[in-house]
Amino acid sequence: MATTSADMERHGAAPLPRRRGAMLIGGSLVGAVGGDTFVSRNPATGEAVGEAPNGTVADAEQAIASARRAFDNTAWSTDVELRIRCLDQLHAALVARSDDLRELTIAEVGATRASTEGPHLDGPIGIARYYADLLQTYSLTEDLGEIEYMGMRNQRWVEREAAGVVGAIIAYNYPTQLALAKLIPALAAGCTVILKAAPDTPLITLALGQAIAECTDIPAGVVNVISSTDPEVGAVLTTSPDVDVVTFTGSTATGRKIMAAASSTIKKVFLELGGKSAMIVLDDADFPTAAMMAAFMITSHAGQGCALTSRILVPRRRRDEIVDLLKQNLDMVTYGDPADPGTYMGPLISERQRAKVHGMVERAIQDGATLVTGGKTIEGQGYFYEPTLLIDVDPDSEIAQEEIFGPVLAVLAYDDEDDAVAIANNSIYGLSGAVLGSHDRAVAVARRVRTGTFSINGGNYAGPDSPFGGYKQSGVGREMGVAGLEEFLERKTFAAVIG
Ligand code: NAD
Repeated sequence: MATTSADMERHGAAPLPRRRGAMLIGGSLVGAVGGDTFVSRNPATGEAVGEAPNGTVADAEQAIASARRAFDNTAWSTDVELRIRCLDQLHAALVARSDDLRELTIAEVGATRASTEGPHLDGPIGIARYYADLLQTYSLTEDLGEIEYMGMRNQRWVEREAAGVVGAIIAYNYPTQLALAKLIPALAAGCTVILKAAPDTPLITLALGQAIAECTDIPAGVVNVISSTDPEVGAVLTTSPDVDVVTFTGSTATGRKIMAAASSTIKKVFLELGGKSAMIVLDDADFPTAAMMAAFMITSHAGQGCALTSRILVPRRRRDEIVDLLKQNLDMVTYGDPADPGTYMGPLISERQRAKVHGMVERAIQDGATLVTGGKTIEGQGYFYEPTLLIDVDPDSEIAQEEIFGPVLAVLAYDDEDDAVAIANNSIYGLSGAVLGSHDRAVAVARRVRTGTFSINGGNYAGPDSPFGGYKQSGVGREMGVAGLEEFLERKTFAAVIG
């Protein structure tokens, strides 16, 4: 069910003024050395949203130098009161600018209007509130008590200190969530940051830098925000001896490169990578509910979510029953102009991403899968793809093993609970998962699947206070919650002779 281009014009993000983003380096909003820019496009129309500076390696080096100076020479890393005040200011600034950020998110990211009230904007703004509050109560010291050593009394304690200069590199799909889940806890911990925007969605990330420069007392150089189409600009953050921590969200393939590059300077590396999560439908689940959840999950943000369940595991005896329900639900998904409040599914980010999704669907069919619905690009403007359902999927085939990042759901049949758990765990990834069925059975199954988050009967595990991250090749470390703050803290152990 699509909206038309006339609808697009009616709801259209159309008359948004064309943006000219600026990087934030050393406290100033600047263009790239040499003045080069690149165009950011609205994925629903293909039209330009605006231009971003096409940062160079020299820009990245300047940003690193300014973050290093701010860490070494300002009170940022030691003045907790200043940090609380600045995080409060940043939260207030993002709330005050949320109407503008919302329209930009819809236009540049292809996020639907409804999703900006959740994970695309209003949810992530809450991360600033959460860490400003946490910092009021979080203890940065731990008493280890006294010991007697070599005839002398020793007092011992641990202090938690900022880990240093952080290089933060993000993916395109939920840019504000990904940026703030790194930036805010790093700032709360007292680190200084160079945040690199994703090349497909630079303007919304640059807008965060602008809010920091214009509305907060965060000292110059504490936050630097850069944009570029050149992967080398991100790579510099992973090799520079002046960067202490790299935090990265993106594909597992890039994550591997980053881990290797960071090894020469033994940086702390924190990775949020890809996923291939499974929804397990137990035989005592409510099938209509399960089918509705699975269909609406895989089509949210057109399937461009790392933790979306792209595999649904169903009891073999009742497979056809649930496949019929899945098809009905997928065929009901409304897609089209993301600015229209009635739209559920927006576009893929680019023609390149759409071609990748379509190629995987075609290869799945060549590999023996059967197409139940969808499987086609949608003609017209923008990068839309039909909600797609595949059955008869071989659990070891590409479509069952590789991340698709599109609105494509693969059905896999299982024989019993052990078989379901084995299929769910048959993956290099371990990001998330879901199970539906009677509570106790569902909890027992959830415990056996090796992933960092799990939803039971539709439970929502996402929130600023909830650690998020992956097992296996889905990543290293946890974002958000207390764990997310501690990723950016070092522990220093003290011992003093006191008598
Ligand atoms: P990507 O890996 O292509 O790019 C991510 C970022 O890395 C971009 O900013 C890119 O410019 C930069 N980059 C590329 N090469 C680099 C290098 N050699 N050194 C340093 N930086 C480099 O990912 P993408 O296509 O933007 O995003 C999709 C991927 O992100 C999916 O795999 C998805 O699962 C993952 N993701 C994971 C999470 C999570 O929390 N686990 C959340 C969102 C997205």
